[in-house]
Amino acid sequence: MDYDIAIIGLGPAGSTLARLLNPSFKIIALDKKPVAGNDGFHKPCGGLLATDAQKAFIRQKLNMPVDILTNPQIFNVKTYDLQTGLIRNYQRTYVNFDRHTFDLWLKSLIPTTVTVQHNALCKEIGRIIDGYQIIYIDEHGIEQKVTTRYVVGADGANSLVRRMRYPNHKHKLRQYIAIQQWFHEQHTLPFYSCIFDNEATNCYAWSISKDNYFIFGGAFPKKEAHQRFETLKTKLAKQGFIFSQPVKTEKCTVVYPNRLRDFYTGNADVFLIGEAAGFISASSLEGISYALDSAEILSKVLNSHHPKPNNCYYKRTFPLRLKLYSKILKAKILTTPFWRKLIMKSRIKHIKTN
Ligand SMILES: Cc1cc2nc3c(=O)[nH]c(=O)nc-3n(C[C@H](O)[C@H](O)[C@H](O)COP(=O)(O)OP(=O)(O)OC[C@H]3O[C@@H](n4cnc5c(N)ncnc54)[C@H](O)[C@@H]3O)c2cc1C
Repeated sequence: MDYDIAIIGLGPAGSTLARLLNPSFKIIALDKKPVAGNDGFHKPCGGLLATDAQKAFIRQKLNMPVDILTNPQIFNVKTYDLQTGLIRNYQRTYVNFDRHTFDLWLKSLIPTTVTVQHNALCKEIGRIIDGYQIIYIDEHGIEQKVTTRYVVGADGANSLVRRMRYPNHKHKLRQYIAIQQWFHEQHTLPFYSCIFDNEATNCYAWSISKDNYFIFGGAFPKKEAHQRFETLKTKLAKQGFIFSQPVKTEKCTVVYPNRLRDFYTGNADVFLIGEAAGFISASSLEGISYALDSAEILSKVLNSHHPKPNNCYYKRTFPLRLKLYSKILKAKILTTPFWRKLIMKSRIKHIKTN
C-alpha cells in the first residue's frame, strides 16, 4: 500500500482532518483548489462563522488571523416573511469572513508529513485487496494512481466518494441549487437578512454585506432555480433591496437533509465527513461547524487504531446526527407559513430598532 489514508477534498472538513491525524500515518490529500491565490475553484459561501464553529476552534486551539475577516461585523439578522410581510430582527454572533482565504488558511495548517496534491482532481476510487486504488489528475494534467487502506470523502455536496459507496442512494439525497450574486454595496446601512418565501423556495434565501459588496443568495429546488431566484429579487427590490448589475454569479449544489438516514458516515474502510456525509444544518445551511466537528471525531477514531473504525465513527457521530436531525425539524417549522407567522408574530427574541 502506498498510503494508510487518502483524503479526498480539502475544504474545512478535509483540512481539519489532515491537521489532526497522527503524523505516524502515511497520508495523501487531494484537492482541486490551488495552493494559494485567487484562481481556480472557490466554494460559494456566505462566509459567516457560527458559534458552533467558534467552539470547535476553541477545542482545537485555533485562533483565526484577522486578514480572513471582512467588514463590517453585523449582529442583527433581519428576517423577512414575504407571505405575511412580517420583518423581525434577531441577534446573531456570526463572524463575517472571506471564505476562500479561510479555506487556504486551513489548508496551510496541514503538517508537512501529509502529501498534499493541490490542483488535483480525483476521478475514480476502486476496490482492491485490502484497500482502494485512487485515480486522480495531478496539477500537470497527468493521470496518477495510488493505493491506500482507508479513504475519506471530504469532497462536499457532490461527493464522488459518497456516490461510489452509496450508488443506490444518490437520487434520494435531497439536493438544492444554491445561487449567489455579488453586487457593489449601495445600501446606506450594511445588513444581513434571512428571507422566507414559500412561492420561491421551501428552503430560504439570504443576503450578506461584505467588504463593500452585497451578496444575495438562496437555495432552490433544481427545477426553475434561476427563474425563482430572479422572481425573488424582483419581490425584494420592492422591499428596499438594491440590486445593481451583478459583479459575479456563483452556483453550486447544496445538500438539504430531510431525514435521519440522509446522513451517511461510510462503510468498508471508507469514511464520509462534512457535507459529503450530509452534515449541514437544514434550518440555516450552516455547515462549517459540522465539517470541523466530524473531522475531529474521525481523527480521534483513526488515531486510536480502533479495530472497527467505521462502527466507531458511526456511533461517535450519533450526537452530531441527532443535533442535525433537530435542525431538520426546526427547518420544517420555519418553512411552514403557519408556524413561522406564529413565531414572528410572538415577537419573542425580536429586537426593536430605533
Ligand atoms: C451558497 C452557500 C452558502 C453557505 N454559507 C455558509 C456560511 O455562511 N456558513 C457556514 O458555516 N456554512 C455555509 N455553507 C455551508 C458550507 O459551505 C459547507 O457545509 C462546508 O463548506 C462543508 O465543508 P466540507 O469541507 O465538507 O466541503 P467543501 O467546503 O465543499 O469542500 C470540499 C472540497 O473538496 C474538493 N473537491 C471536491 N471534489 C473533488 C474531487 N473530485 N477531487 C479533488 N478535490 C475535490 C473541493 O476543492 C472543495 O474544496 C454554505 C453553503 C452554500 C452552498
